[in-house]
Amino acid sequence: MIDRLGRSITYMRISVTDKCNLRCRYCMPEEGVCKKSHFDMLTEDEMITAVEAAAALGIKKLRITGGEPLVKKNIVSICRRAAGVEGISEVCLTTNGILLPRLAKPLKEAGVKRLNLSLDTLDPQKYAYITRIGTLDDFWAGLEAAFDAGFEKIKINAVLIGGFNDDEIVPLAQLTKQYPVDMRFIEMMPMYDSGDFDEKAFIPCTNVLDHLPEALPAEQDGGVARLYRLPGAQGNIGLISPVSAHFCGECNRIRLTADGRVKPCLHASDEYSLKGLDFEGMKRVLEEAIRSKPAWHGDLDALHRSQAGRNMNQIGG
Ligand code: SAM
Ligand code: SF4
Repeated sequence: MIDRLGRSITYMRISVTDKCNLRCRYCMPEEGVCKKSHFDMLTEDEMITAVEAAAALGIKKLRITGGEPLVKKNIVSICRRAAGVEGISEVCLTTNGILLPRLAKPLKEAGVKRLNLSLDTLDPQKYAYITRIGTLDDFWAGLEAAFDAGFEKIKINAVLIGGFNDDEIVPLAQLTKQYPVDMRFIEMMPMYDSGDFDEKAFIPCTNVLDHLPEALPAEQDGGVARLYRLPGAQGNIGLISPVSAHFCGECNRIRLTADGRVKPCLHASDEYSLKGLDFEGMKRVLEEAIRSKPAWHGDLDALHRSQAGRNMNQIGG
């Protein structure tokens, strides 16, 4: 469907749960999520009906995210059924990787095309700090499992945080020489409750290029990341700059939260509920949500927090 500003909306991100087995400081509070009634969340059947309704409006690509999608018990079934919906050409998934040793193969068999894994640091102590409860070895085991299951074009995402991992830009970028992966740096977005980061933590992605003078522009793939490549690398470096250089003019996406709210924009407070609706009802509400998609996400920096009204784990980053 084309929105009122002429943007073609073809991509839906579905947060299948707001729960997570980590507690990244920029994403969710230490105590985890408030327990919501089971009845408030979308059922698997409702999620699939939402995908069918979205596909009927021209959504072609899905990204399954969270929270941590792999903590959802029926994640393999959700992915398999979503991949089978007519009109859906690609189902991808974003994960912290921790549960991939058990789930990489079943997800591949279920039709998941590509994986994005999140990794902010190569230092085990810093990893334990930023995730509050994670172990870096578990990430590496997950990446290995993803390769073993036959996933290709894996992307690794790092949230760029001044004073935390800007001293690791070079070693993180060099992962593209060691592995056939893209390494993407994402500017940290100031969410509703995203931790105690001061102004210096919010740095622009252009800093990455200052540390990588040998990086050359690579062929762009139409996504939101600006792509570069190190000589001899097997994958690209991607810079994603929602704060310093927003890409709202080309935004092609909507989001669906685990409690059934369509968010036309990650950073706007507007939400449209699909909970309890049938296919026709969901299609109508999705249409309304797409029609209302704002022109841009508004100011976003250390002083202007996102108006989303939710943390990232409740939206699906
Ligand atoms: N749990 C999965 C993971 O970590 O990959 C999927 C959900 S997570 C919310 C999706 C992505 O959002 C991750 O790459 C994470 O680093 C990113 N993210 C979370 N909070 C963020 C923030 N405040 N600013 C920028 N990116 C953020
Ligand atoms: Fe969990 Fe992903 Fe948020 Fe980290 S970024 S707390 S892994 S949902």
